[in-house]
Amino acid sequence: MTSARAPDSRRLDVAALTAAGAEIAGEWPQEGFARLALSTLPSGPDVPAPVSFHLAAERAPLEGGGVYPALRIDVSTQVRLECQRCLQPMLQPLRVDRRFFFVPGEEAAAALDAETDDDVLELTPALDLHALAEDELLLALPIVPRHEACPEAMPLSFGEEDAASPAENHPFAALAALKTGGKAG
Ligand SMILES: [Zn+2]
Repeated sequence: MTSARAPDSRRLDVAALTAAGAEIAGEWPQEGFARLALSTLPSGPDVPAPVSFHLAAERAPLEGGGVYPALRIDVSTQVRLECQRCLQPMLQPLRVDRRFFFVPGEEAAAALDAETDDDVLELTPALDLHALAEDELLLALPIVPRHEACPEAMPLSFGEEDAASPAENHPFAALAALKTGGKAG
């Protein structure tokens, strides 16, 4: 697991990487993503999945003219979320595959970012790839996480089950009937 030759993924020189046509791949421990942790459930007894990344640097034409340094970033991991249907934990794979262009100057970057469908950032000699990956993973979180098929019918769920069950089989209905009976007698 030595990475002496790998550049520091929190301080990447985008122009240098692009000039070299560099490709970098690696893994970060998910525990290091504090903001992601706030938006997900703790991993419980399991070791959380690492965050895998692959980066490819190249010069590429930007829509609207000009050829700029670009990074293709592929990030994937698996997080634990609470299913909004059964309220049980569920494993959610997250995958982000995006290309970012880098242009000199914050204003130019903002203007081009607004004009094009591509993501345009300010060219920097110290890109924090870890933070960028975390931004993208947060955006990739489902708004309403749900199992494709919940593991079992949960007593907390409302809907079909209540409608289908005869009222007299409901424990609270039975209790209410007992109370009514007691008062009447
Ligand atoms: Zn569920």
